[in-house]
Amino acid sequence: DAPRLSDYEKISLLGQGNGGTVYKARHRRTSQPYALKLFAAEEPSAAREAEILMLAADVPHVVRLHAVIPSPAVEQPAALALELVRGGSLAGLLRGLGRSMGERPIAAVARQTLLGLEALHALRVVHRDLKPSNLLVGVSGEVKIADFGAGKVLRRRLDPCASYVGTAAYMSPERFDPEAYSGDYDPYAADVWSLGLALLELYLGHFPLLPAGQRPDWAALMCAICFGEAPEAPAAASGEFRDFVARCLEKKAGQRASVAELLDHPFIAQRDAEEAQRSLAALVAEAAQLGDQ
Ligand code: ATP
Ligand code: MG
Repeated sequence: DAPRLSDYEKISLLGQGNGGTVYKARHRRTSQPYALKLFAAEEPSAAREAEILMLAADVPHVVRLHAVIPSPAVEQPAALALELVRGGSLAGLLRGLGRSMGERPIAAVARQTLLGLEALHALRVVHRDLKPSNLLVGVSGEVKIADFGAGKVLRRRLDPCASYVGTAAYMSPERFDPEAYSGDYDPYAADVWSLGLALLELYLGHFPLLPAGQRPDWAALMCAICFGEAPEAPAAASGEFRDFVARCLEKKAGQRASVAELLDHPFIAQRDAEEAQRSLAALVAEAAQLGDQ
């Protein structure tokens, strides 16, 4: 039997985005908890997200897909039943903590996200919308890449990635420039830029290309990404972190570090991975405690 929406009981709202609405839900028969992502009737990203999550079923650090719930009316799925990741997104964690994160937990985010990206890229999948609200974290500090609504499977090496999918604020400079889509253009480098920006956001506590609290003005933001200096980690950060971020936020895609190079970077390689993950788990516990009060 095809899974149905009525198999699930909604418990609470977890998040709302452009693509869908995500609820904490319980499967009525098995009592198992899930994150149920419901799509609007004509949401074009629904089928793409389901396709990529099935393709990435064995990829570490990618959220697990448990069921695709078909819609009786349209071709696109009505909903996806996803693994429930208890700590929610890193954007929610930042909000919950009310302060920025230290380098140790950020290294845990970086390492795990890079391991996920390495395997995704090997499957020719580009995410194209990496940002704190699309990175989930579990109670043990495990990081899961989520929201493949802007993702793409590259059938040919130079399949253009130029279309304005994803969140413009985290888009790399070359994605605004159609001239870049030729020669030795690397479509995977865009995910590295977004990751660098997301990690810097965790360190600063606000989106790096805007002063704290300022709302994005789309035209100004695009100007800043394309014509401004790349954002940098502040002088107070360690040399390793500053260099790591600089290697991600290299404006020329061809000069940007690859995922493999970043996994060998001292910011990650010279750190105990388990210890870093425990420090991230401690932040998840702290935010949960603050939320309970
Ligand atoms: P947007 O358009 O804002 O990028 P979206 O509509 O495509 O988002 P998602 O990013 O998949 O939807 O999910 C929205 C939010 O719901 C996430 O930021 C996160 O807070 C929460 N969420 C999504 N999936 C899960 C999950 N599996 N476990 C726990 N929380 C989740
Ligand atoms: Mg999202």
